[in-house]
Parts: sequence; structure tokens; C-alpha cells
Amino acid sequence: MNVELSRRAFLQTAGAGLAGTTLGAFGFADIEAAHAAAIRPFKLATTVETRNTCPYCSVACGIIMYSKGDLRKGEKAEITHIEGDTDHPTNRGTLCPKGSALLGFVKSPTRLQHPLIRKPGSDKFEPIGWEEALDRIARLMKDDRDKNFVARNNDGVTVNRWITTGFLAASASTNETAFATYKVVRSAGMLVFDNQARV
Ligand code: SF4
Repeated sequence: MNVELSRRAFLQTAGAGLAGTTLGAFGFADIEAAHAAAIRPFKLATTVETRNTCPYCSVACGIIMYSKGDLRKGEKAEITHIEGDTDHPTNRGTLCPKGSALLGFVKSPTRLQHPLIRKPGSDKFEPIGWEEALDRIARLMKDDRDKNFVARNNDGVTVNRWITTGFLAASASTNETAFATYKVVRSAGMLVFDNQARV
């Protein structure tokens, strides 16, 4: 949304703000709310909206992230504000204290942003590229499954299970992602599977 705030509009808004606050003191809270709604777009002017899901817990509230800089135009984007998505059926725009603090989570200097590997025998983690990390994970999973997959138990009953590798999925998954995750994991015979959202 692009909104130009002229000096004239600013003075009108400031005047309305004073009137709104005074009226609020007399119990006209709706007027204050309307005033706040009128002011709010200025904060978000020229930002790009991106819908996402709060990553903290299995409630999976919808959020809108506002960023400066348009990736589609080759610009570098920086998130400046995050709030609840009023169109989302789960939370209708509300967020708990953790979700309300998401901007701090995104900008935390201790946030892990790249895969790390601790090689066999090593006592430290080292950076690894995404492609290399995913290839390595797939390779190790395949090798482990080939070696340890159990098609039948000792009684000859078909069990098709793979219990030497486990899978932990994220709570930020949407229903569709959770469905696909469940299908992949269970189709591979994996029994050790958990998710904060208990998919
Ligand atoms: S906003 Fe709170 S309740 Fe909603 S998903 Fe995030 S942590 Fe869970």
C-alpha cells in the first residue's frame, strides 16, 4: 500500500488524534480505535506483505510479515513489522506473546540461518551448503534404510518398519505440508516420528 503523508494530512491527523484521545477519555473508545486504524497504514506504507505461519507452536497462527525492499525487483528485503493475519481462520489476527515477539526472533543475532555439520570424530560444528547438506541427509537415510529395514518380523508377519532413523518435523507446517510429511515418513516405514503439531 502506498500512502503519501503530506504536511497538511499530518496536521489534520494530529488534530484528529488529540480529539480522539480526549473523546476516548469520555468513553468514546470506538472513535479512538477508528483513529488508530486510520493512522496504522502510514507505518506500513511502501512495505511488501508476505503471509506465513508462526513457527513457535502447534496452533500455527497466521502472520503477515511486512518488509522494506521488493525481492521481485531484485532488492534486498528487510522485515520491519510482523502481526497476526486477520484473514487467518485459526487466530483471526491475534497472536500470543511469543508470536507478538516474532520480529525479535527473526532478527536475533544467535538465530541459526545455515545448516551445520559435526563430522564423525569432530568436537565442533562447521557450516555446510544447503545442497550438500540435503544430499548428505538423503544419502545417509537411504543407506540406513537399506541396511536396517525390516520387512517381516520373526513370526513372518509383514511389518515394513524402519526404526533406526527418526524424523522430527517443524510446528510451522501447514496442514498440507504436514499431510505430505506424514505420507513420506510413513511410506518409508519410519516409526520414530514426532512433531510439535503431532501430525
Ligand atoms: S502466536 Fe502463539 S499460539 Fe499462535 S502459533 Fe505462535 S506461539 Fe502458537
